[in-house]
Amino acid sequence: MNYIIGSGFSGLTVAYALYKKGIKSTVISPADKIKRKNKSLLSLIFKKDGEILNNSLQLTNKIRKINKLSVKNCKYLISHLDGGQSNFWGGVIGNINDYDIKNYILKKREFLKNSKEFKNLLRLLGINSKNFFYINNTRDPFFCEKKYDVSKKSTHNLKRFLKNKKVSFLNDSFVKKINAKTSTIEVYDFLKKKNKRIKFKNLFISCGPIETSKLILNSFKNIRKIYLKETQHFYALIKLKRDIKTRFFKINLNKINFSCQLYSFKNVLSLFFTSYFKNTDFKKKGRYFVAQCYLNQNCSGKIQISKKNNQIKILGINNKKFNKGKLIKKISIFNKKNNHLEIKKVLFNQIGASNHLGASIPMTKNKFLPLGVDKYGRLNNTKNIFISDSSVLNEIDTSPITFFSLNNILRMILDNKKHKKDITK
Ligand SMILES: Cc1cc2nc3c(=O)[nH]c(=O)nc-3n(C[C@H](O)[C@H](O)[C@H](O)COP(=O)(O)OP(=O)(O)OC[C@H]3O[C@@H](n4cnc5c(N)ncnc54)[C@H](O)[C@@H]3O)c2cc1C
Repeated sequence: MNYIIGSGFSGLTVAYALYKKGIKSTVISPADKIKRKNKSLLSLIFKKDGEILNNSLQLTNKIRKINKLSVKNCKYLISHLDGGQSNFWGGVIGNINDYDIKNYILKKREFLKNSKEFKNLLRLLGINSKNFFYINNTRDPFFCEKKYDVSKKSTHNLKRFLKNKKVSFLNDSFVKKINAKTSTIEVYDFLKKKNKRIKFKNLFISCGPIETSKLILNSFKNIRKIYLKETQHFYALIKLKRDIKTRFFKINLNKINFSCQLYSFKNVLSLFFTSYFKNTDFKKKGRYFVAQCYLNQNCSGKIQISKKNNQIKILGINNKKFNKGKLIKKISIFNKKNNHLEIKKVLFNQIGASNHLGASIPMTKNKFLPLGVDKYGRLNNTKNIFISDSSVLNEIDTSPITFFSLNNILRMILDNKKHKKDITK
């Protein structure tokens, strides 16, 4: 059997692509029966260093026991339910023109080859893809409006679709270790409180970049350290000077640019009290907004994940070249020169909390690197182990990362002819 580790956006996309190729698979997911009702986003904002974001303390403690952890300077926002915050996920999907793929080992045309199938997948996620190419360049050199699509249904819909198509789910199970030589995984069953060994034909690792790194460190002795890229992220209080067409835009400040997503105060409140503020409409808001902003690559930070004496260490590393004071100065110049808005206050986020993580095991032609994959996601020095989440991206962009990552995963599975032969024989 072919196993997929993780039931987030990536894992379910792998299952979808395999189903499209007529290949059977089983998705391993840690929490199904254990999960409880959603908690509010308030708990997300007040997370302590290294806390795992999920709705069940019980599950957090169980996972902590499996992986001894020490976390420093890193908020470490991940979820062990149906993945990547699918519970909170704003579901903002990036614009295809935002991504520069010059550092990839494949051409843009090759990258976008499966766009028809990708649109089908997005439809299942509740996303209307017709606005991918929309950019409204205003005459203001500092300011560019963007139109993004927003998901309403998220992973739940895709999961239901896959279940109807007889994709199997192994719930309440957590993969502790991979043995590449014997093609087996060690899985802990939370309900039976037992370990079991499962043989796989092909293995697809889609645990999200932090958990994927932990699993790799637990499984391959020659790999001791993994670095993840992470966009520098901040919140801002914004006063609009004139009406804008969408709540998404980019600000260019000479070498530093950032993408912004506006939330009205009512939107923000609705994150905490979902049942009271449903369907808040952007156009009807006042002049003040909260914005979530992602700075470009030059400002990105890093997360170092290492293993020593059976303990995993997670460390947030700030980018020394990025100067917060300089950015604040540039913002005050921007405030004087532009006629769209004023940025009143800036609050920088801790490492690990930006939600734009990955590029830890990038695609490379160098087969000798222990931490690299080929263009189909096959981990170097392995036959049948594929990494299929945002770990394999070469860069982490300022735009919503899921869009780019899912398109890439779909391509890695659909385009790999050898891989189909491997899997079906
Ligand atoms: C608050 C927040 C808001 C976000 N908003 C957006 C947005 O608006 N737009 C956007 O594009 N992106 C957004 N993101 C990012 C988005 O959530 C991620 O890019 C996406 O979820 C990545 O999907 P994934 O499947 O690779 O990883 P995940 O979604 O993290 O899924 C990983 C899965 O693997 C499972 N798993 C982990 N370890 C193991 C193991 N050892 N054994 C078995 N299973 C395991 C987990 O339980 C989980 O189900 C947001 C993230 C956060 C935190």
